[in-house]
Amino acid sequence: MNIILMGPPGAGKGTQAEKLVEKLGLVQISTGDMFRAAMKENTDAGVRAKSFMDQGLLVPDEITNDIVKERLLQGNFGNGFILDGYPRNVFQAESLEKISEELNIKIDAVVNIDVDFEKLIGRLSGRRICRSCGATYNLKFKPSKVEGVCDKCGGELYQRSDEDEETVKTRLNTYVEQTQPLIDYYTNKGELININGDQAMDDVFNDIKTQLEK
Ligand code: ADP
Ligand code: ADP
Ligand code: ZN
Repeated sequence: MNIILMGPPGAGKGTQAEKLVEKLGLVQISTGDMFRAAMKENTDAGVRAKSFMDQGLLVPDEITNDIVKERLLQGNFGNGFILDGYPRNVFQAESLEKISEELNIKIDAVVNIDVDFEKLIGRLSGRRICRSCGATYNLKFKPSKVEGVCDKCGGELYQRSDEDEETVKTRLNTYVEQTQPLIDYYTNKGELININGDQAMDDVFNDIKTQLEK
C-alpha cells in the first residue's frame, strides 16, 4: 500500500509515519528529512534547498520532484511507502502522477491530518528531534524520559532551525497558499481521507489504520 500523508506543519505527519513504519512495515519518504540530510552532507540539492528552507518557503519544484523521483527509482519499499510532506502544491501533485505512471507505481490513498492552526504553533515550538535516529518528541506532548536524550537510541535531541516564531509563521502561510489547495484537488478525485489530528497520537493512528483497511 502506497500512501500520501498530508497536513500542515506540526499536524503529526512524521509522528504518524513513524507508527506506520513500525506497525505496518511501510517505508517513509520524507522530503523534509531528505533535504535536511542533503544539507548536512552539502550535496548540490542540499546547498540549493537551504536558503528556501531557512526562510520557510518551498524548495523549488524542480529540485523537489527530482529528489522524490530518484528515491522512487531506488524501490525497496517493504509493504509500501508513505510520502510524508510531498506533494506540497498542485504542480508537484501533477508531477507525481507522471512519475508514478512512468515507474508503474500506484498511490492507494491520500491521508490528510487535520488540526486547528492555533494548536500547531504550540506543537512546533515544543518539537524536538533525535540527531541520530530522527525520532520525534515534544517537550509538552511527548517528552523523552531524560531531557535532551532520545529514548530509543540515546542520541541528542535538537530543535530544528526553522522552528523560530517568524519562520513558523511563514511556513503556515506557505501551507495555506500552496498546499491547502491540494485538499480540494484530491477531494475532487475522490481520493482524500480526512483524519481528525486533534486527538491523542495513538487515537490518530487508529483512525488512520481503520480508514486504510477499508
Ligand atoms: P513540516 O512537516 O514541519 O512542515 P518538513 O520537514 O516537511 O516540515 O519540511 C521542512 C521544509 O522543507 C519546508 O519548509 C520546505 O522548505 C522543505 N520541503 C519539504 N517538503 C517539500 C516539498 N514537497 N516541496 C518543497 N519544499 C519542501
Ligand atoms: P509534522 O511532521 O506534520 O510537521 P510532527 O509529527 O513532527 O508533525 O509533530 C509536530 C510536533 O507535535 C511533535 O513535537 C510531535 O511530538 C507533536 N505531536 C504530533 N502529534 C501530536 C498529537 N496528536 N498531539 C499532541 N502533539 C502531537
Ligand atoms: Zn534516537
